[in-house]
This record gives sequence, C-alpha cells and structure tokens, in this order.
Amino acid sequence: MDREERHTPEIVEGYFKLGFLHYAVPEEYGGAGLGSFEGVLFSEELAAADSGTASSLGGNILGLTPILIAGSSELKVVLLPQHTSGPNLASYCLTEPDAGSDVASMRSPATLDGDEYVINGAKRFITNG
Ligand SMILES: Cc1cc2nc3c(=O)[nH]c(=O)nc-3n(C[C@H](O)[C@H](O)[C@H](O)COP(=O)(O)OP(=O)(O)OC[C@H]3O[C@@H](n4cnc5c(N)ncnc54)[C@H](O)[C@@H]3O)c2cc1C
Repeated sequence: MDREERHTPEIVEGYFKLGFLHYAVPEEYGGAGLGSFEGVLFSEELAAADSGTASSLGGNILGLTPILIAGSSELKVVLLPQHTSGPNLASYCLTEPDAGSDVASMRSPATLDGDEYVINGAKRFITNG
C-alpha cells in the first residue's frame, strides 16, 4: 500500500474483520485486548510491510487512549463499544499551526453548548483526520 500511496476504506475494513483495528482496546469494550508489548510487536510487524497503515492504526489507538486512561466508566461503556463495533478510526487532535511540541500553545477552545462541546480552530498533521 505504501508503494501505491493507498489507504482505502477496504484496508481499514480488512483489519476490522481480522479483529486488529482496535488492537489495544480491552476485550470488554470490543477490542483485541493486546497489552503494550504485544501491541508494539503487532505495530512493528505491520509497519515493516506497510508503514502508512501502521500509522493509521496506531493513530486510532492514540485517539482512544485518553478515554482508556482517563475516561469515566460511564463514558467508556458508551463510547468504546460504539467505536469498536465497526471499521471506525479515531484521531488524536493536538497539533495546530503554532502548537506542535509546545502543547501549552494550543489555541482551539472547547465551548460548552447545551450538553455538547463545540471545538473551533485549526489543526494540522492529524492522522485519520
Ligand atoms: C506522519 C505524522 C503524523 C502525525 N499525526 C498527528 C496526529 O495524529 N495528531 C497530532 O496531534 N499531531 C500529529 N502529528 C504532528 C506531530 O505530533 C508534530 O509534528 C509534532 O508535535 C512536532 O510539532 P511541529 O511540527 O509543530 O514542530 P515544532 O514543535 O515546531 O518543533 C520543530 C523543531 O524544534 C524542536 N523543538 C521543539 N520544542 C523544543 C524545545 N522546547 N527545546 C528544544 N527543541 C525543541 C523539535 O524537536 C523540532 O526539531 C503528526 C506528524 C506527522 C509527521
């Protein structure tokens, strides 16, 4: 896929069918439940053959990690099974034109509107974005 510069929904669907799309999400939330060591092995093997797809799948896990680490159990029970039930890709949206390594320079505000947060601003380099 790297040689052809291709990353298609069919590729994502294929990893979903194999059970590897959400490889580091615990089984109770519909993932493969791989630990850190197994996750690294999987990523290394995948990246050796197709680094673009490995970045995409890694970006998916990166996007879900804040929920896995810091989400309430109510949030996990609602959001994670929704995500893992299909060939869905999450994104981790930190980098902005003036905020890469320096995360304290992030400028996009999250404003509460009713029971939703509205995020406005410019992001860049967002894997799966
Ligand atoms: C393939 C790819 C995928 C990416 N996916 C994502 C993603 O999914 N989500 C996301 O949020 N971002 C993503 N990024 C962005 C990536 O995280 C940023 O590029 C990274 O944070 C660096 O930010 P920057 O490019 O603004 O560089 P800068 O932060 O401006 O850094 C430029 C240079 O200055 C150096 N530097 C920076 N700060 C210091 C310091 N305090 N002291 C000394 N040296 C310093 C850096 O090492 C670097 O050499 C992706 C980038 C790539 C290339």
